[in-house]
Amino acid sequence: MDQFPTLTKISEDIYQLVVRYPFGMYEMNSFLFQGDNGFTIVDTGSEAKESIDIWEKTLATGIKIEKLVLTHAHPDHIGLARWFQQQHQVPVYISSLGYKEIQRKRNHDNGNWILNLLKTHDGPEIPRNMGNSEDAAYEFEPDGLFENQQTIKLGNEKYETIWTPGHSSDHFCFYNHNQHVMVTGDHILAGLSPIIALWSEYDMNPIKDNFASLEKLKAYPAKLALPGHGELITNMNDRIDDMITGHKHRLQQIVQILENEEKTSWQVCQEIYGPLSDTKFFAPFLATITRIIYLEKNGEVYSELRDGKLFFRSIVKKR
Ligand SMILES: [Zn+2]
Repeated sequence: MDQFPTLTKISEDIYQLVVRYPFGMYEMNSFLFQGDNGFTIVDTGSEAKESIDIWEKTLATGIKIEKLVLTHAHPDHIGLARWFQQQHQVPVYISSLGYKEIQRKRNHDNGNWILNLLKTHDGPEIPRNMGNSEDAAYEFEPDGLFENQQTIKLGNEKYETIWTPGHSSDHFCFYNHNQHVMVTGDHILAGLSPIIALWSEYDMNPIKDNFASLEKLKAYPAKLALPGHGELITNMNDRIDDMITGHKHRLQQIVQILENEEKTSWQVCQEIYGPLSDTKFFAPFLATITRIIYLEKNGEVYSELRDGKLFFRSIVKKR
């Protein structure tokens, strides 16, 4: 008989639970590391009835949970932290950077910054009802914090905490040197490239950070990478190279768009993604702004501010 019917066994002591919910990415991988004191869970899935159902089913098999560890403070990863803590007395661990992010979200100290950013980049107005539905995810106080380059136990095994800013400035991966297993969160995914964008005024150049964080992981000889969404990865370094190539391709595309004509970020965004609806424009637009900022800091495009709007154009390199 199957001991844990909702879980997929990945190795001797690692299990996967696909948590589904009816919005956003629609599913997220939680990983469960079995140890003498119970299971350590990494990431929870979004807060939704569907995700709670699958976790309740899982807990009903009688498994003991030792603690919850979070890769980064995005609502699809931390969504049920409060539920685990309050309903099941599970202690929650996050990085101190992640905790700072949670506090910022709770204080809503981002609103004006984002409105100004969208305005200077020529974007549409944000619909009033946007971005408040997942606020409850931030309403918990962690029981413990970790820092970069520390050891954290997932089950019985020791994992190195590796700070990998890019997808979010507080993102961490975890590496086990015995089993060559890397927990990659949203830093490395198999089928798609995680969105890299400025989410707050504290994000300066996330694409540059992301390139550095991708290179950083190549130093680890991982045989198995456990991503936050989608398929598991057995060739992590090849996947990293693909992701770097993909980002460079998209940056190059913008340089070309801005070669003969100056444009705003919003114009570039529409040229790349086509017309975008009120609810769908936000992420691609932020990603485009972030790429243009990277290119400007890299000396590949320049900007001019006119009537409160930024216009960009590629710097033509002399051959
Ligand atoms: Zn995610």
